[in-house]
Amino acid sequence: MSAGTKDYYAALGVERTASEAEIKKAFRKKARECHPDVCGDHDAEERFKSVNEAYDVLSDPSKREMYDRYGTVDPRTGAGAGPDLGDIFGGFGMDDLFSVFFGGMTGGAARRARTRGRDMAVQIVVTLEDVAHGVEREIVVNRLVPCDECGASGSSDGSGTRTCPDCGGAGQRRTQRQTFLGMVQSVAPCERCSATGHVIESPCSECNGQGRVPDRDHVRTQIPAGIDDGQQIRVRGAGEAGFRGDVAGDLLVTVRIAPHEYLERHGPDLHVGLSLTITEAALGADREVPGIDGDVPVTVPAGTQFGDQMRVRGEGLPRLRGSGKGDLTVHAIIEIPRKLTKEQRELLGQLAGTFGEQPRATPLTRLKEWLQG
Ligand SMILES: [Zn+2]
Ligand SMILES: [Zn+2]
Repeated sequence: MSAGTKDYYAALGVERTASEAEIKKAFRKKARECHPDVCGDHDAEERFKSVNEAYDVLSDPSKREMYDRYGTVDPRTGAGAGPDLGDIFGGFGMDDLFSVFFGGMTGGAARRARTRGRDMAVQIVVTLEDVAHGVEREIVVNRLVPCDECGASGSSDGSGTRTCPDCGGAGQRRTQRQTFLGMVQSVAPCERCSATGHVIESPCSECNGQGRVPDRDHVRTQIPAGIDDGQQIRVRGAGEAGFRGDVAGDLLVTVRIAPHEYLERHGPDLHVGLSLTITEAALGADREVPGIDGDVPVTVPAGTQFGDQMRVRGEGLPRLRGSGKGDLTVHAIIEIPRKLTKEQRELLGQLAGTFGEQPRATPLTRLKEWLQG
């Protein structure tokens, strides 16, 4: 399915002239309707994804403008600098995001309601150049955000809460059942108050009294120079909003580093290959290798062998802790010519004659020499 065939306005059921607020409202309504947890239709998940994709584009003014103009938004080159659409759902499940919103306070062990927002996890990919200099990235997350409508209180008119009449404020209910083993008593979370012990006098219609609503948020975070592949950054308070204004969870950002075209990284050190002709290797040469910040001059000594290493100090990556930079190690690759011109063959023949004075080593004697160093 190509992005060009999608009608994002139809997916949300809004006019092309819809305001930002109308789009947000339509998204919330649709997200509630077709969330796979509430909707039994076989295509609910597919529809839920389309609604999210549509909202991703239409809620971002630059993406929306591009979509209006060209009828498509390439997530990789799109105007938004955020991660691509595939990343948006990466790291955390949609079920996690909505289960609390839809009253998922189940599980017999839930003695007390969890009212703090949960931590959420996302993964982002950065380049080796980003690692060299550090970078600020904007991450798009689907999360529960405080409800604007009721100021996260969950109450439509500020009348607040009262003690739950069903559980008397305990947040749990004891039930007794007669079984063939005798009377069995069980404790279950109170459904009426979602195990909080309080009910809202007049619940906010936007958030159903939860004080938080699903939304798409843009979180900015600084990726420090020298960060390692797989390291995690904790963005305080950027996770799920708390229940009725309680403390929000954190966003845990796992940083993955994309492979580089020609540089390989080992800790703060970088490695690069350098192709040399047989004459450059034999006679020595002044060459340049591509480093992380442009070309780096390197002196190839005469008599360089295949695999010899030349170390350029301070041309590696910054150290995450401590100071200074790692080194750039240049690995010599000596190219033996596959084709020779007539002239080259003659010259090499003459050269071979000059080596001919020495007794020709057999493969076995060479191996012995090599083993003796
Ligand atoms: Zn509300
Ligand atoms: Zn209750």
